[in-house]
Amino acid sequence: MSLTHTTSQELFQRAQQSIPGGVNSPVRAFRAVGGQPLFLKSAKGAFLYDEDGNQYLDMINSWGPMILGHAHEIIEKAVRDALPGSLSFGAPTKREVEMAELIISMIPSVEKVRMVNSGTEATMSAIRVARGYTNRDKIIKFEGCYHGHGDSFLIAAGSGAVTLGVPDSPGVTKGVANDTLTAPYNDLAAVQTLIDANPAQIAAIILEPVVGNMGLVPPAEGFLQGLRDLCTKEGIVFIFDEVMTGFRLARGGAQELFGVTPDLTTLGKIIGGGMPVGAYGGKKEIMNAVAPAGPVYQAGTLSGNPIAMSAGLAALTYLNEHVEVYTQLQQISDKLVTGTKKNMQELGMNYTLNQVGSMFSLFFTEQPVTDFASAKTSDLQLFGKYFHEMLQRGIYLAPSQFETLFVSAAVTDELAEQYLTANREAIQAIK
Ligand code: PLP
Repeated sequence: MSLTHTTSQELFQRAQQSIPGGVNSPVRAFRAVGGQPLFLKSAKGAFLYDEDGNQYLDMINSWGPMILGHAHEIIEKAVRDALPGSLSFGAPTKREVEMAELIISMIPSVEKVRMVNSGTEATMSAIRVARGYTNRDKIIKFEGCYHGHGDSFLIAAGSGAVTLGVPDSPGVTKGVANDTLTAPYNDLAAVQTLIDANPAQIAAIILEPVVGNMGLVPPAEGFLQGLRDLCTKEGIVFIFDEVMTGFRLARGGAQELFGVTPDLTTLGKIIGGGMPVGAYGGKKEIMNAVAPAGPVYQAGTLSGNPIAMSAGLAALTYLNEHVEVYTQLQQISDKLVTGTKKNMQELGMNYTLNQVGSMFSLFFTEQPVTDFASAKTSDLQLFGKYFHEMLQRGIYLAPSQFETLFVSAAVTDELAEQYLTANREAIQAIK
């Protein structure tokens, strides 16, 4: 069995002449796993189709947004219905109000919300508001958490628990980096040390309440509540970046699942139903600092775009009215994870699998993965081999160890079986 990718390869050659690295977002280039990216043409339900006509079971789902599967009838109809005469106005619409009201009803900690166009915009804006509201400059983020490509977030932790930030990317100034302090994920004591060393200077703590961006890493028992308590005590704005987890881990996101309430929440991915949408929201008192209600400037020509709002509203309305989707996602994800564990056990391998709801990662390490350092003990070469063995068997995984898989509601029991057969063969092939 060997799938051919001639058209994708030709397109990649062509793309590299006109687009940096041939892609519009780095991970798409397959650099982490070797080989060349597939150029996709269409998708339906659980499947992707590339330009060479190959079919793949999609385990990325556009990095999360397509929770209901591709080309979902209700979302596509909403876009078709919205299309005549409402591409963009740059003025308020009824749909934006409906969207805001729906988000607020699904996530109780969000009392007011501002729509933007991406997760990156949401996180950048959220920390600006936190800084404006507290009149403090520094933020704390966690090593291995990704919050989009805003300058403040492209900061490496270094090896120490309390290392001051240094830029992770050329173009991020030292000045900006100095205002981002980093701690290892799941390490409450390191956060306390940072706060003690920077008294009354921390505007915000931002984190992924369940991390998807170092592979899937759950919060340790008490970690989220511990941070909540520290923030309350120190007057720090507590921000949950729920760009991945929002509307995915539960109707009300990770904050509903873990029963911990942030001050601000950032959203993206599912909120757009597949269109470019992000949002940030939270306590009225803080959100009232946003212009024109308050002095913190944030704006967007296409923010609240009518077509994007229509797609997002359709997706969120569906999830709001069909909470059974979350039980279904849990069951099918449990089946994938339990089956993968069984395959490994039978083949004498003992790699780590982390799962929360419909997000999971297989790490090629036998160590528990609880933070970025342990995630990095994974055998990346082996991951690359596994990725390509799965691809050849028609399974499209995230092309990096440091990403999570996202299960969609379009994965049936039968497709889960196909996944597990491929998984078994792929593990056998790389052994
Ligand atoms: N925050 C988290 C947790 C993310 O996973 C991402 C993207 O994957 C972002 C923010 C940035 O979102 P976007 O790519 O829409 O800018």
